[in-house]
Formats: sequence, C-alpha cells, structure tokens
Amino acid sequence: MIDATANGSVSPDEPGLPEGAPSEPETPPDAEQRPDIDEIAGRYAAVRDRVAQACDACGRSKDDVAILLAAKFQEPERVVAALGGGARRLGHNYVQQLEASEEWLSRTGAPPHRAHVIGHVQANKAAKALQHAQCIETVDSVKLARRLDRLQAERVASGAATAPFDIMLQVNSSGAPSQFGLEPEALIDVAGQITELTNLRIAGLMIIGAHTPSAREVAASFARARVLGEELRAAGVASATELSMGMTADMEIAIAEGSTQVRVGTAVFGPRPSY
Ligand SMILES: *Cc1c(COP(=O)(O)O)cnc(C)c1O
Repeated sequence: MIDATANGSVSPDEPGLPEGAPSEPETPPDAEQRPDIDEIAGRYAAVRDRVAQACDACGRSKDDVAILLAAKFQEPERVVAALGGGARRLGHNYVQQLEASEEWLSRTGAPPHRAHVIGHVQANKAAKALQHAQCIETVDSVKLARRLDRLQAERVASGAATAPFDIMLQVNSSGAPSQFGLEPEALIDVAGQITELTNLRIAGLMIIGAHTPSAREVAASFARARVLGEELRAAGVASATELSMGMTADMEIAIAEGSTQVRVGTAVFGPRPSY
C-alpha cells in the first residue's frame, strides 16, 4: 500500500536515527508548505489542464480520463474546496476517514460526488466501506470479494442498496514484491470466481505504478495493466473497462498507456500533513 509518505518524503514514524546521528536532509512536509485553502480549487483546475494536455498528446479525449482526488489526511474543509473547484470523485485509503469525510460532507451539503476506497480493506471494515463508498478499487482476493458480496446481498435485501456494488481488482503489475495486489498470473482465475458473485460488478483494474525513477519501467507496468484488462474482457468480463492508474508523479505516462482514471493527491493538496 502507498502510505502518506509516498513520493520519497520521510516518515516521522520511521524508526529514528541513532541518537546524535546527523539529521536527514529531507524533513517531513509541515503545514506551512501546504497551499492555502483558497488555492486548492485553482490547483484542481491545473490538474484538469494537465490531464487534458496529456490526452491531447496521445490522441485521446479528455472526457475519457476521470480524476479521483486522493484525500488521505486532508481536513474536510480542504476536500470541500476541491469539490468547489469541480472535483467529483474522492478516494480514501482508510475506511475510518471515508466514513468521517462522507458524514461531514453530507451534513454540510457538499456537491454530489463518488467516493472510492483506494487502500487495503480489512475484513472488519468491509461493511462500512460498502455503506460509504460507491467503489472499492482494492479487491485482491476471492475471500474479500465473497465477504463484500455477502454484505452487499444483505444491503440489497434490507433495501439499503439496489444494485451490484462496483469493485476493481488491484493488480501488482510492477513486478516488484508487494504486500497487496493480485499477481498478474492469478488475475483471470480470480476474476472468474468473482464474476460468479452476483452482488459485485468488476468495473476494471487498479494499479500502482512501478516505484522507480525510470519512466520506461513505469510505462511498462502500466502497459502490462492495459493488456491484462484486454485479456480480462476477452475472457468474458465485459464490464472491466476501467483502468485506475497514474498519480501526481506519473499521470502523463499512465494516460498515454490507457488510464481511465488518475488518482491525484499531492498536485492538488500539496505535501501531506505529517501526522
Ligand atoms: C496517496 C495515493 C495516491 C495519490 O498520490 P499522489 O502522489 O499524492 O498524487 C494515489 N493512489 C493511492 C493508492 C494513494 O494512496
């Protein structure tokens, strides 16, 4: 999982250096480095322009690439500022923050939007995730899918929901050992088992790009994901049309490789607060 310290910044929680060692040159971002709240709408517009230019550059329509705001650790006021700038998709890594954010937003009458889960879902958080999100992008096991399916069946039976719940399958297409995400070789088999769960709908794949400064390796991991999506549809999962891939640092590469949704935090909100 990508945590708050992605993009090479130093975690304040990391095991400290020995007493007396020279301090790290890179200090964690603090509140002073974050943009003012009244800059956020403009920064969102700038990301929209970046996406449009990237689409232009590879002959795609800008309407084919959605922007999901990665809202982890952002105060609800800052999320509202982004919604005010036109954002309509929010992504949460933590179900607890998803719940708090959605409750706050509905209490304060924020514009309509979709909420996606983009972090690992623990079994005991699955019900809350279904309650507050419209898509879970991080399904990476049949076991989790079965649990979500069972819980969604209960929601449908009780009238709390009317349709299958949208999920994406998280694939580890970077080739690096990763704690989360299906191995590409397992995708077709796992997806086949999940398509039998009638209360879930596989909307596509979610990928975290290779964590490397090599643009070529990043592009290769995204291209692999695109091919996997094609193979999945060829295997009969026609609904799997989305490719959630690309973040602040690599969204242009992801768009060139077929992303249908980039997940952007830093470009809009600045460095994440260090708590
Ligand atoms: C934080 C996060 C993002 C956004 O990353 P930025 O580099 O801040 O744009 C995207 N996807 C996931 C899964 C994340 O955790």
